[in-house]
Amino acid sequence: MRHRAYIGVGSNQGDKEANCRRAVREIGGMPQTRLRQVSSWFATEPWGAASSEWYVNGAVAVDTGLEPQTLLRHCQALEARMGRRPSPVRWADRVIDLDILFFDDMVLEEPGLTIPHPELHRRRFVLVPLCEIAPDLRHPRLDGDVRGLLARVDDDKRIREGTSPGGA
Ligand code: ATP
Ligand code: CA
Ligand code: CA
Repeated sequence: MRHRAYIGVGSNQGDKEANCRRAVREIGGMPQTRLRQVSSWFATEPWGAASSEWYVNGAVAVDTGLEPQTLLRHCQALEARMGRRPSPVRWADRVIDLDILFFDDMVLEEPGLTIPHPELHRRRFVLVPLCEIAPDLRHPRLDGDVRGLLARVDDDKRIREGTSPGGA
């Protein structure tokens, strides 16, 4: 378990909460990987024009012996196993989306993998659950920790604690 990684989990299709819970369980079952923390779930307004269907979002921390590209492959295999199909439309509805947010204090730009996730500091739906489990985590490229990024984020999309857009 040499590494600490943070993974964003989201779903806006089917039983969104069940999808997210299954993904978390299966992340914990990946080789050389142990779940360390799981955030609460949040109902979040979708980004982009591709959909009006709200998401359920959360974030997890894992300790892992996998390297970043291998962890990504396992995440993509899990997405596929859960029925996610490639879509030409950016931010189309999906049963599950797993993004690697942070991996140690690594800064990585490789084909198909950018770490930290390049959009995380612009997204309240990522920062709110992340701040629950890792408020003091420092962004290796930007000034400040997750708490600070959340305080500064310019994102007016709505987000509610719990899995229901109505706020229940
Ligand atoms: P966004 O990345 O803006 O949240 P998305 O999650 O909808 O959009 P996907 O279609 O799930 O995008 O993934 C597009 C590509 O992003 C994948 O093929 C993957 O290789 C690449 N990618 C780059 N960096 C990361 C990362 N840190 N975590 C997950 N995927 C990444
Ligand atoms: Ca994403
Ligand atoms: Ca993704």
